[in-house]
Amino acid sequence: MGLDIKELRAGYGNIEALHGISLQVSDGDYVAVVGANGAGKSTLLKAISGTVRSFGGTISFDGKALTRMPAHQIPLCRIAHVPEGRQIFPRLSVYDNLMLGAWLVKDPDQRSQRLGLVYDLFPRLKERAAQMAGTLSGGEQQMVAVGRALMLGPRLIMLDEPSQGLAPKLVNEMYEQLREVHKLGTSVLLVEQNTTSALKYSTRAYVMERGKIILSGLSEELRDKDEIRRAYLGI
Ligand code: ATP
Repeated sequence: MGLDIKELRAGYGNIEALHGISLQVSDGDYVAVVGANGAGKSTLLKAISGTVRSFGGTISFDGKALTRMPAHQIPLCRIAHVPEGRQIFPRLSVYDNLMLGAWLVKDPDQRSQRLGLVYDLFPRLKERAAQMAGTLSGGEQQMVAVGRALMLGPRLIMLDEPSQGLAPKLVNEMYEQLREVHKLGTSVLLVEQNTTSALKYSTRAYVMERGKIILSGLSEELRDKDEIRRAYLGI
């Protein structure tokens, strides 16, 4: 069970950017996809979210086919996507941004319970609930983006370069918070150019190059093998 992608081909217009990707994220897994600029990492997450067209192959979640599901129905499967660049609403308050993530949650008790959980994870957001989100620091805006995704109560959270633009200290802090999210039972699929952090926190990893998976394995093993680090990871 969980996410199962087989031989996925996807892209933009007539241009194929993913050339037969197979990848699994089981229940409770923490998986990283690493690779250089333009490898196709963001396209992969967008294909799962239904915002990039699939040309072939299959994507399923808990046995349910997502491949042709319209993008607005993907959250119903409790898959949340934290996009690259956060894409929060700068002129709305922190609270309103978070509540937008709960648009599918009809029960007010459940909404307040989720909000409580997000505030426990990110106390800074509680302190700043009324502040306009655009005036927060980069790290705090990333917390809003992750918090908004958690308001859905996701079974799988997908994050696109969450460390982008953050100072090294904040990168660690953000990854520690993600570790807490994972401990609470949410599966994580992370794409990163920041290979060091991604391999430190994930359990398994895939390396992508030019729209293909060229290597996969336990993150610890990929991290510790010098020849792999030099040849594939540039670290
Ligand atoms: P980055 O970390 O720079 O975002 P990435 O690994 O996420 O890199 P993608 O953004 O998925 O890579 O891009 C994969 C390929 O798809 C690239 O060749 C890119 O030029 C192409 N591509 C991405 N977005 C579009 C688009 N909207 N229209 C056409 N081609 C696109």
